[in-house]
Amino acid sequence: MIASVPLSLYVHIPWCVQKCPYCDFNSHAQKAELPQAEYIAALLDDLDRDLARLDIGGRDLHSIFIGGGTPSLMAPEYMARLLAGIEARIPFASDIEITMEANPGTVEAERFHAYQRAGVNRISIGVQSFEAEKLERLGRIHNGDEAIRAAHIAAGSKLNSFNLDLMHGLPNQTPEQALADLKQAIELAPPHLSWYQLTIEPNTLYYSQPPKLPDDDDLWDIYEQGHQLLEEAGYQHYEVSGYSKPGKQCRHNLNYWRFGDYLGIGCGAHGKVSFSDGRIIRTIKVKHPRGYLDLARDYLDKEYNVSEQERPFEYFMNRFRLAEACPKAEFSERTGLSLSVIAEPLQQALEEGLLSETATHWQVTEKGQLFFNDLIALFVSEDDE
Ligand code: SF4
Repeated sequence: MIASVPLSLYVHIPWCVQKCPYCDFNSHAQKAELPQAEYIAALLDDLDRDLARLDIGGRDLHSIFIGGGTPSLMAPEYMARLLAGIEARIPFASDIEITMEANPGTVEAERFHAYQRAGVNRISIGVQSFEAEKLERLGRIHNGDEAIRAAHIAAGSKLNSFNLDLMHGLPNQTPEQALADLKQAIELAPPHLSWYQLTIEPNTLYYSQPPKLPDDDDLWDIYEQGHQLLEEAGYQHYEVSGYSKPGKQCRHNLNYWRFGDYLGIGCGAHGKVSFSDGRIIRTIKVKHPRGYLDLARDYLDKEYNVSEQERPFEYFMNRFRLAEACPKAEFSERTGLSLSVIAEPLQQALEEGLLSETATHWQVTEKGQLFFNDLIALFVSEDDE
């Protein structure tokens, strides 16, 4: 199965100017000058060790996603060094997508052209809101004008695409405010828009001091009207919070959701690699920058085998997030299992109207979307409960 599974690479840059109160990502407030050269050398060393340990079977790289944290805190020359180093180790597919996350702050936006020359061809801009009061509540360091300017710079560059990340359901946000934010984002015409609802996660400041969020009725109004605005503007809703113009879906994220393979380098990065002997291995790197950069220890924190019992749930949990129909043949290609192992839960999902099927594909029904957790719970192996 290995040859047919596309291979991506995730690179984690763990620093931000300051920590946002809602953020549960592996990000650390920058306290001193960033050890840029040291970190890029460590990332490439980390990649070398992955390649020595994990047989990727001569595959090209299909996509790279440089996330964080705030990768745009790294100067373009270091980004160029990183991308050249990666390409020297794994050949790039001719149509590789290389995304870098960026803050809309002035300094970072002015560097977009330089990142593009370094090899980045898609930028994901963390806008979140255009409203001053909301940005302040979110602890963001940019303002609405900077976000608009950053989108204009991205649109005027030679990038293949760019994304705006926008949140709704913010503290004290009315439906009118949420929709005004969305209209502003649509006006900037990004090829891709990630429009997602703020959720309160454990281990964040918002968890210990919860803000007042819109009630369920307001959230539903925001979702329904926002979804309509996006569709009218020509965006396709292809994943839970992912909207794109035709052909502009994020290839990297599509590969995750289609249960593709990816190496993960950098602090706390996760990887998943399928082997020709049928094993699927997951890797997790050391989380804290101090430990990751400690030369006395390995970058790898954990490595484990995904058992055959776990694979159907893992596959469908990712696959059914996508609006597209799921090709039946892909299940065996990606999990190495025969369709007979899921015959029973599939039958149940079909009988309960959570799924529909043709000879070649499954499709999550509207009911299946509403009861998504019930749908994927059918594929939990009894051994895992
Ligand atoms: S900028 Fe992004 S990654 Fe950094 S703390 Fe804020 S939400 Fe988290």
